[in-house]
Amino acid sequence: MNLVTATSEAIARGAEIIRSGGLVAFPTETVYGLGADAFNALAVARIFEVKDRPQFDPLIVHVAEKKMVDALCTAVSDRAQTLIDRFWPGPLTLVLPKRDVVPDIVTAGLPTVAVRMPAHPVALMLIEQSRTPIAAPSANPFGYLSPTSAEHVAEYLGDKVDLILDGGPCPIGVESTVLDVTQPEATVLRPGGLPVEEIERAIGEVRMVTGDVDEPQSPGQLPHHYAPRTPIHILTANEWPVETGKKIGLLAFRRPDRTGPFTLVEVLSEKGDLREAAARFFSCLHRLDKAGLDLIVAEPVPEVGLGRAIMNRLSKAAGRHARPEGRR
Ligand code: AMP
Ligand code: MG
Repeated sequence: MNLVTATSEAIARGAEIIRSGGLVAFPTETVYGLGADAFNALAVARIFEVKDRPQFDPLIVHVAEKKMVDALCTAVSDRAQTLIDRFWPGPLTLVLPKRDVVPDIVTAGLPTVAVRMPAHPVALMLIEQSRTPIAAPSANPFGYLSPTSAEHVAEYLGDKVDLILDGGPCPIGVESTVLDVTQPEATVLRPGGLPVEEIERAIGEVRMVTGDVDEPQSPGQLPHHYAPRTPIHILTANEWPVETGKKIGLLAFRRPDRTGPFTLVEVLSEKGDLREAAARFFSCLHRLDKAGLDLIVAEPVPEVGLGRAIMNRLSKAAGRHARPEGRR
């Protein structure tokens, strides 16, 4: 059984697992998290595999000290610093501009990263001893409630994770408040454990995002999900591009066995491994999107496991340009 009481020996073992690219479920003051080394794209891809999520969402990166924020983010504004000094450790997640070293799968392709310092001794010790920030969503499979005890996690995920640290029930039991501080107006993206009134007492009025966060609420607000600007076409069976004078890029699942009129080819996984494909998906798409192409054609990937999440994001990106009003 991989469920163990969070003694210092167990936490040390957890840290070793994180360092070697494994997954550890751990308690925080909000809910139990399913954690991996935030700088290891393959380990993070396994989080999505274990959660069986049909789509990619940006994850919260958990830190134990300010230095880790500087390793993840390009800038911490005075306003962000005020909030950090006032509310960390605690149930407040800040969305900040990310550094290039943060793998794109952590942020689902967004240029920002969500960061928080949990107020739980087990979580803090695990992160400190791992000597790396830990990316972690809630430790539940897709469609289930967030787990607030180690038994929930064991029931949900069992042997799919390498270790479950039991630190008792989560004292707060609801998710953290997510606040975007990259825009002139601070915006609550998700209400949670820290009341908005308390945030407003510290930095003044904040905006609330209501309704569908996938749609930009006002000009200047970043979309909640990354979508490439270049039109995308998903190839159907036996379809293969021909020379048209247009600049075409190919997003291939594995190394293609035929050539084509491509300006740029990005291969998700030479050996056709879905975990590797997921880990590389957003960075491959970014490179294609930045290459000044007229069109990106994408090979479909098998719709099993992580392949579903990849196809979900590809079809959204393809559909976005197909619709006349240009919205997703
Ligand atoms: P969970 O990991 O289940 O606690 O959920 C994380 C929450 O933070 C979700 O609502 C995400 O959409 C949000 N989030 C994480 N990273 C970002 C980001 N870079 N920009 C906007 N929202 C984010
Ligand atoms: Mg969740």
